[in-house]
Amino acid sequence: MVPQEPSLSTAYSPAYAEVDDNPREVEYIEMRVKSALHHTRLPYSPKPFYYSLNLYRGCRHGCPFCFARYTHWFLGFQNSFDFQRKIQVKVNLLEVLEGELSNPRRKRDWVTLGAATDPYQPAEKKYGLARGAFRLLARYGWPAVFSTKSDLVLRDLDVLGELALRAGVGVAMTLTTLDPVLQKFLEPHAVPVARRLEALRQLKAHRIPCGIHLMPIIPFLTDTEEAIESMVRTAAEIGVDYFVYNVLRLRGQVVKSYYYHVLQKFNRTAFEQTRKLYGSRPYPPESYVDALYGKVKFFREKWGCRNRWRAIFPDKQLDLF
Ligand code: SF4
Repeated sequence: MVPQEPSLSTAYSPAYAEVDDNPREVEYIEMRVKSALHHTRLPYSPKPFYYSLNLYRGCRHGCPFCFARYTHWFLGFQNSFDFQRKIQVKVNLLEVLEGELSNPRRKRDWVTLGAATDPYQPAEKKYGLARGAFRLLARYGWPAVFSTKSDLVLRDLDVLGELALRAGVGVAMTLTTLDPVLQKFLEPHAVPVARRLEALRQLKAHRIPCGIHLMPIIPFLTDTEEAIESMVRTAAEIGVDYFVYNVLRLRGQVVKSYYYHVLQKFNRTAFEQTRKLYGSRPYPPESYVDALYGKVKFFREKWGCRNRWRAIFPDKQLDLF
């Protein structure tokens, strides 16, 4: 039975949190779109507006806290695991994108990918939309930033190198933890962290600007000093060009209920603590966030982990930091 339409209130309701009874199954649903680029804001920046480009709807990586679960619910996929099982693929996207990029009336600007779903999720091996999109962006001279949890990005070093030269590109690996057990819970179908760190080293070796998105930091699971320091130290050792972070946001019933449901099974204590910390809000209280960000800043100073890359085009800086 389909649960009632969820609200943006954050009451916990198991109605939005069925358990995936067949996690190995995945279905690709091909669809056609009329537009490709959309004006948007970056989720981690209050600054307006850039273009967003989403190649897929739903994400196979299946992170239980993902805020895009909410959108998938409204697309008609009304149980919690459809988000990582039923992936919509915009099969005509490259054709539409080329029409938009070549339109002289459209002003060039930064394009962001990965804010809602991962451009290098497993579907990309079959459909190649990310490769095609970066090729077009390079051809028409549009710069891009994106984040991913996959080392499949290394397949496209040639295209990304060309984009870096012709317009500009920033590639972020999103990481939540270096602990393999926690990773399996937080990013069940994403590639192991070691492969993502190796991908960053390769991107550096190919002179492609790259960074780490420590997103989100998860209260009671990844917010310890030890966890934060080891992540910052790793970033400094690799020499990433930027390091961006934020705290877990649990917006709306669909997202919060699914996250609480799986967290409760994984770590009952953390579940109780998280419920208490968030109450009916989508964010933890300011005092918690200030203390958390203070810890990150402290360790970044300690390990000399600075943001060295500035995304500037043509005279406008993209506010990542
Ligand atoms: S990789 Fe990103 S988009 Fe995909 S499920 Fe995880 S948080 Fe969501």
